[in-house]
Formats: sequence, structure tokens, C-alpha cells
Amino acid sequence: FTIKRGLGQGGFGEVYFAVSDGGKEVALKLLLRGRTDIELRGISNCLNLKHPNLVHLYDLLTDERGDHWLVMEYVQGEPLSSVLSRNPKGLPVAQARDWFLQVAQAVGYLHDHAVIHRDIKPANVLLMRDGTPKLTDFGLAKLAQEDQIGPAQLTLTGETLGTPRYMSPEQAACDLQRIGPATDLYALGTLLYECLTGRAPFISASVLETL
Ligand code: ATP
Repeated sequence: FTIKRGLGQGGFGEVYFAVSDGGKEVALKLLLRGRTDIELRGISNCLNLKHPNLVHLYDLLTDERGDHWLVMEYVQGEPLSSVLSRNPKGLPVAQARDWFLQVAQAVGYLHDHAVIHRDIKPANVLLMRDGTPKLTDFGLAKLAQEDQIGPAQLTLTGETLGTPRYMSPEQAACDLQRIGPATDLYALGTLLYECLTGRAPFISASVLETL
């Protein structure tokens, strides 16, 4: 691949627009170091998932330095979070319903394949130029290790265990036993609320208060 330009940086690593030697346009995500084998296996398990509303993951590669790169579909468009910031009072109901149903179908597909997203939020819904929403960052949320990372440390470590305003109570409590499909439903409900009203249901100045 030849890296053409940077697309941005999120909690999971840096993202680049690149072109393969054969001419295929892709997005490359350089994953932050410190991934456990379990987490890498979790990402690999998502490589063969295909749904019209999921960003297609093509491959997980390791370079000579031991860094991991996720090769994925390049989505030309913008994240739902950008659309929401231009619409502070929310979206028209028909528009919100159309996008939400498609995202919910993608989440249903993930759950049918035993994948819990754990970080559903407007920034992870990419809207293609034709208006098709594509959910991204599935399989990437890091596993919380209760003894190492608790909610109090979220802001300090910058670890991506989820995003406080979309986090279910069980996720906020790092209760791994209880994290399941309902964790994603909570985040979906929050996303729908935000699409309709322009604001998340629970917002406050501090992460802990939001949790
Ligand atoms: P976080 O990862 O913490 O949820 P984020 O979603 O903003 O935050 P990334 O997912 O790392 O961060 O994405 C960084 C930037 O790259 C964003 O602007 C995003 O829109 C863009 N991006 C990510 N994946 C793709 C893709 N497959 N195609 C095109 N652009 C992408």
C-alpha cells in the first residue's frame, strides 16, 4: 500500500487513506500498541463479516516493527457526528429513522455473529456520499481489565473502553460478565435520542458525573 494522506486520529489509532499496488483505495488504521492476543483474535473474527451497513474489514496485517494495521473499506463521506454538529436541534424524524434502522440492522447482524460492538456512537457511523450509513470500529473496543482500568481512570489513560455518554451502566462499571447485546442497545438508544434532539440524554462537565 502507498499511504496518500492522513484521515485522522481516534482512540484506536491513526487512520490513513492509501492505495494498494493494484489500485484499490483503502483506509488503513494503525492500531495502538498494547493489544492482547484475545483482542487481536476478536478483530480477526470480524474480518469475514459482510453487511451493507458495516465498513468492510479486508485484513489485519503486522509490519516488520510488530505494529498492527487494519485494512478496511475507504468510505468517502462524513461521520454522523459532523452532521449532528451542524444540526444542533436534531434531524428530521424521517431522516433519523432511515439512518437509525440501517445502523440497527448492522448491529443486529453483529449480534447474530456473536460480536458486541461496545463503542456505538455518532463518530463511528460514517455516511457515504449516497447517504448510506456504515458502522465502523466494531471489534476494536479494548477489553477492560478490572484490576487495571476503572472508570475513574478513563480520562487519564485515554483507553478506549467506550465513550462515557454512550456507555451503559454495566460498561461504566467495567462489569465484563454483564456486557452483552444490551450494552449496544443502550448506546443505540442514546444515538437515536441524539439524532432526534441534537443532544445526548446524559451530559455533564465531568466524565464521572456522566457515568
Ligand atoms: P474513536 O476511534 O475514538 O471512536 P474516531 O471515530 O473519531 O474516534 P477513528 O475511527 O480513528 O476516530 O477515525 C479517525 C478519522 O478517520 C475520522 O475522521 C474518521 O471519519 C476517519 N475514518 C475512519 N475510518 C474510515 C474509513 N474506513 N474511511 C474513511 N474515513 C475513515
